[in-house]
Parts: sequence; C-alpha cells; structure tokens
Amino acid sequence: MTPPLVSLLKQDNYDYAAIRRAVEELLAPLGGMGAFVKTGDNVLLKPNLVMSQKPDGVALTHPAVVGAVAELALDCGGKVRLGDSPGLGSARKVAESYGLAAVADRLGVEIVQFTPVDDFDESRTYKRLTLARELLEADVVINLPKLKTHAQMFMTMAVKNLFGAVVGAQKFQWHYRAGSNKQAFAKTLYEVYAAVKPALHVVDAVVAMDGNGPTSGKPNPTNFLAAGTDGCAVDAVLLDCLGLERDSLPVLLAAREAGDIAWEKVETVGASPAELRPARWDQPESVTIEMIAPRLSQKYPFLTKWLRSQFTAVPYAIPGKCVMCGACVRLCPAQAMTLVESVKIDKSKCIRCYCCHELCPHDAMGLRQGFLGRMLGMFKSGAGSRQ
Ligand code: SF4
Ligand code: SF4
Repeated sequence: MTPPLVSLLKQDNYDYAAIRRAVEELLAPLGGMGAFVKTGDNVLLKPNLVMSQKPDGVALTHPAVVGAVAELALDCGGKVRLGDSPGLGSARKVAESYGLAAVADRLGVEIVQFTPVDDFDESRTYKRLTLARELLEADVVINLPKLKTHAQMFMTMAVKNLFGAVVGAQKFQWHYRAGSNKQAFAKTLYEVYAAVKPALHVVDAVVAMDGNGPTSGKPNPTNFLAAGTDGCAVDAVLLDCLGLERDSLPVLLAAREAGDIAWEKVETVGASPAELRPARWDQPESVTIEMIAPRLSQKYPFLTKWLRSQFTAVPYAIPGKCVMCGACVRLCPAQAMTLVESVKIDKSKCIRCYCCHELCPHDAMGLRQGFLGRMLGMFKSGAGSRQ
C-alpha cells in the first residue's frame, strides 16, 4: 500500500496573494486542486468557526487560507460553499466577526449553517451519529483546520476539526456521553471523521495557537501550511513538526484501535518537520499525564490513575472578568454549573470537558491545575512544554 503523503510549506504571513500562491504550491505534490475537484462538483469547505473572534484573533482558520482554497476549487469548476456548526452563534455571524464573510461574499461562496441528519452505520461503536447533511451530501469535502492546542483533547488539528459535523447542542451531549473518558470521546471524534471522509485537508499553521487553546490560548507563529488526504497522517506530521509524541494524541490512538494505521508510515514532501519546529510550544494547563508521558501511562495504568487525579485541571470563572452572562451554565453538558451570585462548579459532577472554557465569549473561564502540576510547575517550562 502506498503510504499517505503530507505536503509542508513554509509561509510566514497572511498576505492574500502570497497565501494563494502558497496553497497552489502546497497542493502541487498531491496533484493540485484538479485532483480533487471536477467541474460541477458540490464542494463544501469546513474551516474552524468555533465561535466569533476579533479580526486579529487566531482561533479560527484565517480568511486568506479559506479564500485561497475556495478560489482554487472555483477555478476547477466546483460549486463551492463553506460551513460549520459553531458552539455559539451561526456560521454566518462567526464568519462576519473576523472578516471571512467579506472574502466569501466577494467570491460568491455561500456560508451555510449545518443542519442535522441521522447517519446510521452498523459497523461503528456509536452506530447512530447526528451529522451535518451538508457535509454528508457534498461531492467533495475540504477540511480547513487551524493548528491549536485543545484543553480537553490535547490538540485540535485535522481529525478534531470534523467534530463541527455534529450539529449544535448534540456536540455537548456527546461530551457528556463520553464523560471524563478521553479515549471514549476520541473514538467518537475518529468515527465522525471517518463518516465525513474529507477528500483533502489544508491546515492553517501560519500563526497557530498554543497554551490554553482552543479559544483562550496565545498566538504562536509556526509559519507553515500543511496538506494531505489522510487526516490522521496530517495530524501525525503536525505533531512531528511540534516535537510532540504521536501517542500523546487520543484521536490517533483511537484510529489505531479502529485498525487505521496507514498514518504510521506517512511520508512528507516539501519542508521537513524538523526545519518547521517552532522555538516554543506551550501545552494547555489542563494537559494530562497521558499527554506528557504516553508510554509511561500505557505501561503503568494504576500509577496513571493516581497521577491523573493530581494533574487534572478544573475550570473556574475568573472574578472581575466573568460578566455572569450564563452561557457556560447553559452549555455545560454535565449540568455541573450554577449561577446565583457567581458561577459555581460542582467538581463531583464536572466531567472536565472544558466546553465552558472553550466557549466563554468573554475569555473569563480559567483552568486551575491539579496539585502536582502546580507543585512541579512543569507545564510552562518543563516536560509539558517545548521551549
Ligand atoms: S460564559 Fe464566561 S462570562 Fe458568561 S457566566 Fe460563564 S464564565 Fe462568566
Ligand atoms: S463545568 Fe465546564 S468542564 Fe465541567 S462539565 Fe461543565 S462545561 Fe465541562
């Protein structure tokens, strides 16, 4: 079997014309956009539109990257639309918040809000998924993730970005079903990815987000773009670029468990992962022992259980920043939050999904590290982070 190929290209700015040329060059080793889009194809672009941000924010796929991919697909004769199912607000509103809507309108690319359809597959662990009709019915899906840390799932890249296929409040129910079992949730993420089957993934890693991603982290200019046809292979190569262990990513472990191991033999073309390694990469404060030392935790599960309890971060509303809008209380899938005079979290009910941290529109939900993490102070400068 031919190993999957991931194309990597250095790119240090979001100048629209430069990004357009870069995406064309990035896709050339994969056969160019023409290898994926034919005249008359219904093409659906899936950027990361998790929630509204300011135009200079780095949580969402940059408009220049989305626009460049859209233009190339239009040039191939595709009928191009873009969409997502944001955690808060509509896809259109989120796209308007940071300048993507202006680019889409100029290109005549419709912004669609996903609508749910039941997708039943006997062979899956979770046989019934409620997924976006627009993604399932498109001839070609092009996934456009942003390279970011993720408080719950360590990183969000190609595979995790497809969780936007789960429409609206259903997302939170899946969090609750998986509970605090990260690997169970990773299995769901992998199965959603496998159900959507994107033809192509183009990753915006020109300015990534590290620290407390996926919405409250810091910009990290990683200065590259990545593309490939196998989402797991793309994720594996992105971890290589950052100097992180592949086994630290729960969705790759879920892929392996499902028998999908092609990504282990991935080959790269263009820039090498080593030359793209950023000067630093800070993990989220919620990082767990499984993410820091995956081999140790696989070898000593009992030790891991104890360490996990000492490391796991709990969310808290930051006094002075929280405006008590109640959004987190309404979204909490475990109903662990109350709002009377302030936001209170019942730790015994909290499943550490960090939806409240991800979706607070005021960036007012902090993460407090577990005792051991605080004592060792390791997340910012030691084993938990790459400097
Ligand atoms: S969503 Fe944010 S601002 Fe609103 S109540 Fe929760 S922590 Fe406070
Ligand atoms: S309090 Fe936050 S982290 Fe805990 S279950 Fe609710 S949304 Fe998830």
